[in-house]
Amino acid sequence: MFCPFCRHPDSRVVDSRTSDDGTSIRRRRQCPNCGRRFSTTETASLAVIKRNGVLEPFSREKIISGVRKACQGRPVTDGDLAVLAQKVEEAVRASGASQIDANEVGLAILPPLRDLDEVAYLRFASVYQAFDSLDDFDEAIRQLRVEHRDRPAQTSGAVAE
Ligand SMILES: [Zn+2]
Repeated sequence: MFCPFCRHPDSRVVDSRTSDDGTSIRRRRQCPNCGRRFSTTETASLAVIKRNGVLEPFSREKIISGVRKACQGRPVTDGDLAVLAQKVEEAVRASGASQIDANEVGLAILPPLRDLDEVAYLRFASVYQAFDSLDDFDEAIRQLRVEHRDRPAQTSGAVAE
């Protein structure tokens, strides 16, 4: 990588540090030509293939803005959404693929959103999975009820621990 100051084609790594969430490495570099220092950030590339075939970089912000609408009026905080976006990123990166369908990103949102807030989950799933009748809602709610029966201790909605 070129030195951003003098365009020298080589640089020396003087320090490497992994980010707190473990998804990137920040390197301090020094140019052997002009002696100035600069930083680079290294991340495993992850691109989302949109329905129209266009690639765009995976973005937690996009996940959050996509889910925020479904959470309107629900007891969901910005912090909850940040955690959800992190879980989604971990889930899609776990496959090891460098490109992933937008569809799979949507699927990866459903489980953590269901854990966070069931009403928001139903709203998001209804749009995402294109529910077109009351039967679809019935089926989704029936599945949630079955899980409640299996996990009776858990209350619905987002409850602070
Ligand atoms: Zn330089």
